Amino acid sequence: MKIKKVVVIGSGTMGSGIAAHLCNANIPVTLLDLKTEISEQAREKIHKSRPPLLLDKSKINNIKVGNISDDFDTVKDADWIVEAVVERIDIKHNIYEKIFKKRKKGAIVSSNTSSIPIKILSQNLTEEEKKDFCITHFFNPVRYMGLLEIVKNEKNDLDKINSLKKFCEIELGKGAIICNDTPGFLGNRVGVYAMQIAMTEAFKMKLSIEEADAVFGRPMGIPKTGIFGLYDLIGIDLMADVLKSFIKELPENDKFHEVAKEIPLVKKLIENGYTGRKGKGGFYRINKTDGIKVMEALNLKTGEYSRSKKINIKSDKVNLKNLINRNDKYGEYAWSVISKIIKYASSLVPGITNNFNDIDEAMRLGFNWSKGPFEMLEEIGVNNFFEKVKDFKNNKFLEDLFETKNEKFYGERQKYTSIETLGKVKKTALILDKNDSAEIYRFKDYNIVEFTSKANALDYNSMDCLKKATDKPLIIINESMQFSAGVNLNYVMDFVTQKDFKSIEKFIKYFQETCKYLKYSESPVISAPSGLALGGGFEVLVQSNFVASHTNIVMGLVETIVGLIPAGGGCKEMLWRWSQTEEGKKDPDYAPKKVFDIIGFAKTASSPVEAEPLKFLKPEDKKIMNRNSLLPEARLILDNNKNFMPPKECKFKLSGEKVRKEMINSLEKLYEEKKILEHGLEVGKELAYVLSGGETNLNKELSEDDLFKLELDAFMKLVETKKTQERINHTLSTGKPLIN
Ligand code: NAD
Repeated sequence: MKIKKVVVIGSGTMGSGIAAHLCNANIPVTLLDLKTEISEQAREKIHKSRPPLLLDKSKINNIKVGNISDDFDTVKDADWIVEAVVERIDIKHNIYEKIFKKRKKGAIVSSNTSSIPIKILSQNLTEEEKKDFCITHFFNPVRYMGLLEIVKNEKNDLDKINSLKKFCEIELGKGAIICNDTPGFLGNRVGVYAMQIAMTEAFKMKLSIEEADAVFGRPMGIPKTGIFGLYDLIGIDLMADVLKSFIKELPENDKFHEVAKEIPLVKKLIENGYTGRKGKGGFYRINKTDGIKVMEALNLKTGEYSRSKKINIKSDKVNLKNLINRNDKYGEYAWSVISKIIKYASSLVPGITNNFNDIDEAMRLGFNWSKGPFEMLEEIGVNNFFEKVKDFKNNKFLEDLFETKNEKFYGERQKYTSIETLGKVKKTALILDKNDSAEIYRFKDYNIVEFTSKANALDYNSMDCLKKATDKPLIIINESMQFSAGVNLNYVMDFVTQKDFKSIEKFIKYFQETCKYLKYSESPVISAPSGLALGGGFEVLVQSNFVASHTNIVMGLVETIVGLIPAGGGCKEMLWRWSQTEEGKKDPDYAPKKVFDIIGFAKTASSPVEAEPLKFLKPEDKKIMNRNSLLPEARLILDNNKNFMPPKECKFKLSGEKVRKEMINSLEKLYEEKKILEHGLEVGKELAYVLSGGETNLNKELSEDDLFKLELDAFMKLVETKKTQERINHTLSTGKPLIN
């Protein structure tokens, strides 16, 4: 069955997210609501959404809008009708009655419900209608969350369900997992339990909300919003509704009940309008005194707010063993939370799923955890776990595991998909090298480098692995959220503190040398990025021979934001790309001016569609919807390039002072108009010096090494300035750029 046209009914958060994502996949879609004004407004919201729901904003009008009275005939032509109206069974039943009267024979009808069992949703349908009805549970925001849970009913046409699964995997790029009809399916059942246990244990152990968030966050491989931050993000009132629905649906003996009891402080917050970020605030709030915004945190004991404290538990990398063995309240809290999550998740096998690793995948794709509960158990070690956990009665999974004590119980990963994912493949490889920032996996005819540092920031270790791995065809790819957020600035600032600028220079040279290896080694190098590819991360990508990019990428050269310029070949490579355009070939000043604008304003692209016009990506680079497919696509590129020859060295003709003057004039104008400040002017002048070719003129050809040298000199000049150091420090401590 081919899906060529889709109708989405209900244009709220989820309906509009689903419609936008169908538009991303170039599938004609119509979005219907009670009134056309509502769906029109939804379309406007899609257009303005941040982060953007659309890959290409110019396609917004490919989403047609209408209302369920005048435009319901659109259902007649649809191959798939997605219902995403409010979570009310009477309303949903009414809609199904209308849909099944109009839909063409065989068209799939699905609901996006998060809590209503399929048995109840489909209770009024005929046997024939049930064949084509299922639940497709997307996660918010639809473009960015990888998980899609598909729930079947007993009458489903299985071929149809499988073809829907395939469509959602390939065309929509989702990790589509088929689930049983149990409350909260896989993701929310375990995810909401995990949130509740993290919250209730924080209350019990008398941790502050900042302390709990500092542990139940990055150190556990969980997004940095933590638990209380996540509550605020989702909406404290919405979470209360979700809990009520779980309490209603789950049997009395389910451990969920122990963590879902109403907490008086939470009830009071909701009653007073403190529902989270959308309300007056929540566990955190921003308070404005004398025009200055201050982040405040709620005291769980007193219910009063005070200035939020930054908690540093000094655990940059995820290391669960270290974390749970800490001899302090943080270690105690981490163990209590992790062990209870493992116990709860394992108690659901085989009840809600036979494949425990589907639960892990649901947590990774639906909640952005780097590891699910069973992978956490694997990392902690089975014997270690049972040394501390003695009580697991009626938990068949743990009882069986206790008998075997098999440390290798995990076996194959990501069983739900037939795609040869990185997660599956790397388990079969030899680990050639491993350090604090990267690993090299060796296969028969290629290597993989996976970065493993925080946000995959780059340092000597990452460069070492890259360099070493270029002895064979190389794929640079990783499972964590980001490809790389750039060079590790903490590392650079350590040298600054010691006034050891020589070591910074040495490091940048090593970075440049590594990028040369990537570009010119005998074997091809492919970057397969997803998430952030910024600064140094982008320089690795742009100097690889091929790119297979996920559609959810954010890429660009953002160095000027911290008062630096790209020095790992970013200026050079962008200059080369723009000089190869028709205009660039005619006018030697065209490329420098274009690149000056792109790097100077730290322009970023938040999809391949935005990346191509900036020349961050080339038309021939692969753009892939499903992150799981990045590795097979990269391997395909290797297969298609068996006779690979490294590229020829680039030569540059730049007009030096002539074009530099123009750039500086435009900078001075911006300065006069107060659009940039004095330091911006200084950074801009250094950038202009590099991009104009320094003290050169059109009679002289510059090599790539000449440009590397210019980048290095400019970088060193800037890193030695107080203002740049202040900017870097500010960004490192707050995660935000300094705006002055
Ligand atoms: P929402 O409140 O944002 O939007 C619901 C939309 O349905 C509104 O635009 C409303 O006007 C429209 N509507 C109501 N009655 C209608 C009718 N008879 N015909 C057509 N449109 C009608 O809700 P939402 O958050 O988008 O949730 C939609 C569904 O998705 C629910 O079943 C919810 O459980 C589920 N869900 C929500 C989330 C989430 O994070 N919000 C996540 C997964 C699943």
